[in-house]
Amino acid sequence: MPNLINQHLWFPYTQMQKLDKVYEVKSAQGAHLKLSDERELLDGISSWWSVVYGYNHPKITSALIEQLQQVSHVMLGGLSNEPARKFADLLAKITPEGLNHVFFSDSGSVGVEVALKIAIQYFSNQKQFDKKRILSLEGSYHGDTFKAMEVGGDSDFQQAFSHIFSDKLHLPKPKHAFDADNDSIQKDIDLLEQMLKAKNHEIAAFIVEPLVQCVGNFNIYSPKYLQAARKLCDEYNVLLIFDEVATGFGRTGKLFAASHAGISPDIIILGKALTAGYLGHAATVVSDKVYEAFLDETYEKAFMHGPTYMGNALACAVGLKAYEIFEQENYLEKISKIEVGFREKLLGFQHKKVKEIRVLGAIAVIEVWDESDLLGFQEFGIERGVWLRPFGPNLYTMPAYILEQAEINKITETMLAWFK
Ligand SMILES: *Cc1c(COP(=O)(O)O)cnc(C)c1O
Repeated sequence: MPNLINQHLWFPYTQMQKLDKVYEVKSAQGAHLKLSDERELLDGISSWWSVVYGYNHPKITSALIEQLQQVSHVMLGGLSNEPARKFADLLAKITPEGLNHVFFSDSGSVGVEVALKIAIQYFSNQKQFDKKRILSLEGSYHGDTFKAMEVGGDSDFQQAFSHIFSDKLHLPKPKHAFDADNDSIQKDIDLLEQMLKAKNHEIAAFIVEPLVQCVGNFNIYSPKYLQAARKLCDEYNVLLIFDEVATGFGRTGKLFAASHAGISPDIIILGKALTAGYLGHAATVVSDKVYEAFLDETYEKAFMHGPTYMGNALACAVGLKAYEIFEQENYLEKISKIEVGFREKLLGFQHKKVKEIRVLGAIAVIEVWDESDLLGFQEFGIERGVWLRPFGPNLYTMPAYILEQAEINKITETMLAWFK
């Protein structure tokens, strides 16, 4: 493997002094990456969970080229474009009921910032200036920009900045499982209720990654917790925000994680699979109630935010085509087959190094007791032609939804082989 590190490219979440190896991808097709040295890898991570329909999908590639020949980008200040208008219409239609107003931005983190700004301004527009804090869960990850970091509860990502965050307000992460009994869910609900009861006058919103705290140890919890959160947030006049940047578009087995609970948050944030990994974009979709708090004769109540690339015509054209594929080719069925494959191959596996195995939708995680037990796994996978990258104590896969049975098996067998 040639050493491809050069002096100029700074890699994410990386101690550059220690980085000795990255793998340059020359081309990619479906769920397969081709490296510069001609080796092929089956991709078990779909590029941070975004490339859910695979690389170089012919329909997405042509939608992109077609749009490129019309108009690639115009500012959304005073101008608009057809893909942005249609994509907003589509998102209003497919997101949980009542979410009807779409604010585009260029990445998930910015989509989260937009949601938090909207939540705080929702109350300041009503002269409720005390309701300005954001409640979140320990172990959550909402992005790498400042406020998103502050509401995040995973210390790895913010260690260097912990001294500047003065307004953290966290609940312990839910400790029950997806199908937990009511008693164990109730313990977590009680904590939420106590917090809201004590501090609702200063809380603008409660933000969660519904059902799965992905970066935060892939903690999976019950939809009943979300239902209770909906009730309690209504009772205490706190906005409920679902960060579905990772869970949206089928990842948990339904279109949105919210669909498992059958409820609507006040604000939902979509990213990653929103544009199928072809171009960066995010959408923050809000309810009528939230939107209407911004309407007025004067500018004062308007939302003063506008990323240069918001509503980018290429990104929106890709998003439209991606959802068309999702629906027409019945991706929920494909995802459910992946889930069955993961369950059959992984659940029940026992090993002294393994703490727990969790599966939901197209997510499978083997959590080990000691994260040093996963050192060297990345190279082990590559030798077997599979791209997987453990994260903390988690050996996980979140692949494209297009995997064939044999490919699902190849991924799970590689994960298990490490322990054998
Ligand atoms: C990835 C992620 C983000 C941040 O999205 P970026 O596009 O990387 O800025 C925010 N929230 C969740 C839940 C994520 O998984």
